[in-house]
Amino acid sequence: MPQKPIVYDAPTPEPRAVTVEALQAEILEKLTYSIGKDPIVARRHDWLAATIYAVRDRIMDRWMESSRDTWRTSNKRVYYLSLEFLIGRLMRDAMSNVGLMDTVREALNNLNVELDDLIDLEPDAALGNGGLGRLAACFMESMSTLQIPAYGYGIRYAHGLFRQEMSEGWQVELPEDWLAHGNPWEFERRESAYEIGFGGHVEPVTDPDGTLRQEWRPNDHLLAVAYDTPIVGWRGARVNTLRLWSAQPIDPILLDKFNSGDHIGALEESSRAEAITRVLYPADATVAGQELRLRQEFFFSSASLQDIVRRHLQQYGDLGSLPDKVAVQLNDTHPAIAIAEMMRILVDLNGMRWAEAWKLTRGVFSYTNHTLLPEALESWPVALLERLLPRHMQIIYAINADVLTEARQRAKFDDQQIANVSLIDEHGGRRVRMGQLAFVGSHSINGVSALHTELMKQTVFADLHKLYPERINNKTNGITPRRWLMQCNPGLTRLITERIGPDFLDDIDKLRGLDAHADDPTFQEQFARVKTVKKARLAKLIKDRLGVTVSEGALFDVQIKRIHEYKRQLLNIIQAVAAYDEIRAHPEKDWVPRVKVFAGKAAPSYWNAKLIIKLINDVGKVINNDPAVRGLLKVVFLPNYNVSVAEIIVPAADLSEQISTAGMEASGTGNMKFMANGAITIGTMDGANVEMHKEVGADNIVIFGLSTEQVAEKRAKSEVPRAAIDRSPRLKEALDSIASGVFSPDDPNRYRDLIGGLYDHDWFMVARDFDSYSAAQRQVDALWLDRARWNRMAIHNTARVGFFSSDRTIRQYAEDIWGLAIANQ
Ligand SMILES: *Cc1c(COP(=O)(O)O)cnc(C)c1O
Repeated sequence: MPQKPIVYDAPTPEPRAVTVEALQAEILEKLTYSIGKDPIVARRHDWLAATIYAVRDRIMDRWMESSRDTWRTSNKRVYYLSLEFLIGRLMRDAMSNVGLMDTVREALNNLNVELDDLIDLEPDAALGNGGLGRLAACFMESMSTLQIPAYGYGIRYAHGLFRQEMSEGWQVELPEDWLAHGNPWEFERRESAYEIGFGGHVEPVTDPDGTLRQEWRPNDHLLAVAYDTPIVGWRGARVNTLRLWSAQPIDPILLDKFNSGDHIGALEESSRAEAITRVLYPADATVAGQELRLRQEFFFSSASLQDIVRRHLQQYGDLGSLPDKVAVQLNDTHPAIAIAEMMRILVDLNGMRWAEAWKLTRGVFSYTNHTLLPEALESWPVALLERLLPRHMQIIYAINADVLTEARQRAKFDDQQIANVSLIDEHGGRRVRMGQLAFVGSHSINGVSALHTELMKQTVFADLHKLYPERINNKTNGITPRRWLMQCNPGLTRLITERIGPDFLDDIDKLRGLDAHADDPTFQEQFARVKTVKKARLAKLIKDRLGVTVSEGALFDVQIKRIHEYKRQLLNIIQAVAAYDEIRAHPEKDWVPRVKVFAGKAAPSYWNAKLIIKLINDVGKVINNDPAVRGLLKVVFLPNYNVSVAEIIVPAADLSEQISTAGMEASGTGNMKFMANGAITIGTMDGANVEMHKEVGADNIVIFGLSTEQVAEKRAKSEVPRAAIDRSPRLKEALDSIASGVFSPDDPNRYRDLIGGLYDHDWFMVARDFDSYSAAQRQVDALWLDRARWNRMAIHNTARVGFFSSDRTIRQYAEDIWGLAIANQ
């Protein structure tokens, strides 16, 4: 039975008027009564907060209506657990999705405030590293758009991803402070706080009826406090909640210590608790392996599960219906400990039988794998888990025993296969493999592109796939077209609407209608003009930030993403050096003017990645200032890449660099953003590029490089890369100049080891893909010189982007994994 009666039909306040006058009055009212500022002295941040409050009010009614609707209809709820949400700014997103942009702009205008200034002032919420966190943010928006009752659960980091600055071309990391001016979007929910335990011991207890239970007695406790942010879907279809947990001490101040004069000690518990949600770990695609990280993972998993189970019991009163009403999606293995926590809640706290609890758990959970890179596969030392989460370690052993018994008895696995599927890695110090835990505790395991899912079956999960062949499925990633087309490129959105009408705003597949206009010279011209306007804006940004002059008439060649050796920014910059050599050697040729734009952060501890940033800056300094180049080639590195910077760069790109070593990029989502905005991709057959090639056709994408199989073969044979270098005089010359210090006269040996690695093992196939990449770049030049052809290709790219909408991805999750029916298809 429900624990307390639920009132479904509470009176709704009158919806707020959406006229300019009403908004104007309300912004003033917020400024006066919520911010406490007289308009005469109000600063821009005050106007920003007042505007957000006014916009927020328009969302509140729909927010409450959405959750009331879920209670009333008893629909299944989706819970998206993610250690990262790279949401970026929210104000423009919210205004645009509820159709308030123009009204707010005018209202502010009447108050002598420029909306665009306020938009740029909003802090960029960078609670994530890169693609994985941005995917979670796109999914939240799509789930609201598709009217799926969903909650995002994550951590409210006091400091998100570091701010990147350049010091003489080197990356320096500075703390980021997104909450410095408060956060008008969030609501603190002190009533939704849960106790989280760590450490202690497990005690067997016998209940009065004689049953034996295990009881975890943690010796360290803290509170998880909820902060809710509304996430509004397109046309305000629905408003879902992003619930982020903040760690707080149970006793904020130990009064006995304080009174005895130990003022620091009195606050010790407070700072120890708060440490858990203080910073986001800044490594992307490598595991941190530190105790605090495990604490973060358990902290948010446990709080989220307690919240989910509480809500479920409150509405339905029994746990047996969990899989019918609850779907929990694990974004990578970071929340995988939730599986053991769910078992503890069901078995230890609710007295459920083990087998029944396991069935329910598997019915509820599903897991998304994001990478096959060995250095990114999470595992924790058994000893650490035993100390921090002793009961969970016991549960993991028990799950493992069941799985291994099944593997031996039903599937007749041999010892090697048993070792492969075991949750415990016995090599060099025993460790718990979180991927294996997430797999066995889930009814669905998905990869994020067709290629990646195939590789998952062949590599990390080969034996688990044999044991449970129906579980692995593919859900190719997507991006929300609202943020990544309509909001970041209103000019293009307007042009498309003029041509094919507004239907694509609600059904992105309708962009296909543009195909029919791709050959129309007038439309090509208009399409190119929209691009030029965006390029002029980026050129201004480059001038303002870096003092480098670039021409909007040049080809804008863009690689923006985390800096990682597998993403091969090194290949790109070596090719730029080779082009520089060619331009100087053959000044008479008809060179295509290019601007190479780079941006991206390196993990602070990733030396080679940081060195590659320095190399890009060193090369840029020489090329940009060499009169012999006559401005035909520019190389710029824009600091502090984040969502807001991406929103400026992506619409301005002519060429999208997606050049990872084949088999290493799980999907990529940057590639999709560029495609939406009419950039042409130069890329390898990797991740979702493979599906882009299929959607857009071979004529509208430039593909190069070794295939996944060829890469695997070369690695297996330990083939020497030197032959590839000897065969390519252009490559050799470029490598020699970098290694000998042409670009680093102040430290000629700076790049010797980096380049030496290409001769030595070249794990990422930079040398062996170089010639193919160079040829592809020459093909790009040729296409650019045939401008009608280029524009046609660009239009086809935008026209075919529908498949890469996160609406499509979420529909597939809903139907195949969560067992939901989608209302508005
Ligand atoms: C989209 C996005 C990413 C992911 O880019 P990839 O090219 O797929 O690696 C990373 N960071 C930010 C800020 C993004 O917007």
